[in-house]
Amino acid sequence: MTRAVIAFGANLGDREATIAAAVREIAEATGVALVAVSPVYESAAVKDSGVDDDAPRYLNGVIVVETALAPHALLELLQRIELEHGRERTEHWGDRTLDLDLIDVDGIVLDDERLVLPHPRASQRAFVLAPWLDIDPDAELAGHGPIAALRAAATDEVVRR
Ligand code: ADP
Ligand code: MG
Repeated sequence: MTRAVIAFGANLGDREATIAAAVREIAEATGVALVAVSPVYESAAVKDSGVDDDAPRYLNGVIVVETALAPHALLELLQRIELEHGRERTEHWGDRTLDLDLIDVDGIVLDDERLVLPHPRASQRAFVLAPWLDIDPDAELAGHGPIAALRAAATDEVVRR
């Protein structure tokens, strides 16, 4: 069994309902057990060009699971759930009904065409670090150190709901 940290985000549609459904679907998947669910935060959309205050705001959070699935199988599960919630992959970092990112899997470091672990931008994103810190204050991000220090250094603004 491995312990995986998954971040969720939604900025289109009924964000709360989508997130609640997605968390339930992950928790009910074969080979996955839910360990913890973070509080929900709100953040501004980030595009290639930076913060986009005209785009709908995101709800974000993190869950921790125990899983028998290998990292790529877990990613496939997350992508299937994204698609079931109407996720369309058009614009890079575009608005989306649901984004599910694999942040950390037992500190594994890997980088192939489908999956990069730990998630390459997690170390700088308060909307990942703040909720993760709430449910796992002693956590570390492989190659980056304690998430408490990373959270303190992150500059993007998040508001706890
Ligand atoms: P982003 O989450 O960066 O806004 P997407 O959700 O559209 O972008 O994901 C783009 C691609 O990133 C996916 O096709 C997936 O294969 C890849 N990817 C690589 N590493 C990860 C990871 N740790 N978690 C989620 N997706 C990842
Ligand atoms: Mg993603």
